[in-house]
Amino acid sequence: FSRKIQQLLQVQLQPKAGTGNQPAITAADLVAALQRNELSLCYQPKYQLTDNKLVGFEALARWKSPLFGQVPPTVFIQLAEQSGVIDALTDWVLAEVIAQLSRWSEQKLSTCVAVNLSLINLQNINFPARLLHELKCHQLQPQQLVLELTESAFMNEVVTALDILIRLRMNGIELSIDDFGTGYSSLAQLQRIPFTELKIDRRFIANFLHEAESQAIVETCINLAHKMHIRTVAEGVETAETLQALQAIGCDYAQGYFFHPPLTVPQATELLKAVVL
Ligand code: C2E
Ligand code: CA
Ligand code: CA
Ligand code: CA
Repeated sequence: FSRKIQQLLQVQLQPKAGTGNQPAITAADLVAALQRNELSLCYQPKYQLTDNKLVGFEALARWKSPLFGQVPPTVFIQLAEQSGVIDALTDWVLAEVIAQLSRWSEQKLSTCVAVNLSLINLQNINFPARLLHELKCHQLQPQQLVLELTESAFMNEVVTALDILIRLRMNGIELSIDDFGTGYSSLAQLQRIPFTELKIDRRFIANFLHEAESQAIVETCINLAHKMHIRTVAEGVETAETLQALQAIGCDYAQGYFFHPPLTVPQATELLKAVVL
């Protein structure tokens, strides 16, 4: 019993990760981390619900810092957005994804990858031309890239962003509205921007089976998207029951722990090989 108390005391004495005892992470730390190659990408598979076919991956950024430990993406993405480092970070993500798609193509494992973009990234009118050039240099099709957009509170140059998105779409790059139904991902965006995909936020999917309100929201999102000829993706699918219910109401794609968590590159490669062979 006293050992138990000792253990409890010890636990309390250990500083918890990410609290007071740790120095605050700054934008300079993030820039240094990018330069030191401390960031990596993992790839979460996305499945088509009519035939359970693997249709691609979502690239998700990870930062393992020798100083701060594993920093959650929500933390460093927000830091990047607030400090302007997000452009460098997104450039790095896109370059990394294009290189990976190219390596997979060389192994006859062509696939699609979705990249998360912040609307802050869409202020440079040269962005579409640069991106299309990179894809072409690596002999990749624009259709192999999906850009997932979450509107952030920091955007002001709306006109440029819209212009850029239309150029990207006209050239075959797919556009996805992420976290639909939450915060800033709104109906107005759906009307203005030529999206090809709508991602229903995880919070609605999590409560979907047991809460009439969530169910109504999910069904309405799917109906709305289909009327606009936009496909739907459910994120955060964790159980077979949820998957079946989503299938029954005609959701197109899904991703989540039920299928796979975000995977390392070797794991994703194995999965692609298993599908192709
Ligand atoms: P998101 O785009 O909504 O990504 C989905 C998040 O849900 C990911 O969290 C993923 O790991 C997690 N997830 C996937 N399946 C499940 C599930 O079945 N259950 C639960 N509970 N969670 C699941 P993650 O990787 O921590 O990323 C958090 C957010 O950070 C992302 O949300 C995205 O907004 C942002 N983010 C991540 N990587 C990037 C990036 O490269 N660029 C930008 N701009 N944002 C990124
Ligand atoms: Ca996303
Ligand atoms: Ca999302
Ligand atoms: Ca989300």
